[in-house]
Amino acid sequence: MLEKFARYPLTFGPTAIEKLDRLSKHLGGKVELYAKREDCNSGLAFGGNKLRKLEYIIPDAIASNADTLVSIGGVQSNHTRMVAAVAAKIGMKCRLVQESWVPHEDAVYDRVGNILLSRVMGADVRLVDDGFDIGIRKSWEQAIEEVKAAGGKPYAIPAGASVHKYGGLGYVGFAEEVRAQERQLGVKFDYIVVCTVTGSTHAGMLVGFAADGRARNVIGIDGSFTPAQTKAQVLSIAQNTARLVELGRDIVEDDVVLIEDYAYPAYGVPSEETKEAIRLSARLEGMITDPVYEGKSMQGMIDLVQKGFFPAGSKVLYAHLGGAPALNGYAYAFRNG
Ligand code: PLP
Repeated sequence: MLEKFARYPLTFGPTAIEKLDRLSKHLGGKVELYAKREDCNSGLAFGGNKLRKLEYIIPDAIASNADTLVSIGGVQSNHTRMVAAVAAKIGMKCRLVQESWVPHEDAVYDRVGNILLSRVMGADVRLVDDGFDIGIRKSWEQAIEEVKAAGGKPYAIPAGASVHKYGGLGYVGFAEEVRAQERQLGVKFDYIVVCTVTGSTHAGMLVGFAADGRARNVIGIDGSFTPAQTKAQVLSIAQNTARLVELGRDIVEDDVVLIEDYAYPAYGVPSEETKEAIRLSARLEGMITDPVYEGKSMQGMIDLVQKGFFPAGSKVLYAHLGGAPALNGYAYAFRNG
């Protein structure tokens, strides 16, 4: 579905799929859990899901003759770290707006983890006071204008690389890659679990899996705590992406399966249950998840297994989308282990 689109390689290639044997057994052994390791997808600043998306966005940035990538996220945004890494790799400048999306306890929250890495990679990092919102932001539009006023040529990448004409393509590729790996491994996944916030990861996957009738088997776990807005954004990105790739069928609201139960108490703030899920996957599998995204989707997957949401015998693929560097900003939450 993606042959006609230009792609700038930023990843190592297909990501590994591994079986989570000890976690599966711990949860009763009725369901087989696997992880697709998007968190280990590249040598660019620890990798993560944004690189698949940026592979289809960067050719447009280069063709536009831009000299500066401009993007936005929270203070501990993985996405802005990835944009900083890509800018360094392709020889562009990078201007980042980091909004105050998350109330935090750690004194070093705005100096470690993702934001530290973006600074080390030479991005022009500006902190802004505005709160959480996955939509198009004034502070970002202002940054674009400021780059222009200073004589630069900005290329605008919205939060999470999501509300961009090509934002959904990368995860259509994920579905195609999973199909090829299923043939090699001799397995077929009944469900795909994904953390959903700005929406293009989930949107791309559901378009990609719609091609073999599995759109509704993509189980989004909301991490935004603003699920109505996230769900609407997934739907519109999926519809746009389906048209772009000429899927041949419409994506409708019921195709977007988003479970809203695990994002509490707020975006970026882990509950006790989220922290327990992070410890469990770390202690049983040595697999690191973070308090903002993957810890919440891990919590959701564990709870859904325990509730019997997945029929016995199901094979469930957990998409591990990255995000571990943010853990450095949450030392206080794990001060007792
Ligand atoms: N997981 C991680 C580690 C992320 O950085 C993000 C980014 O927002 C997500 C999940 C959610 O992906 P999306 O914003 O495409 O919904």
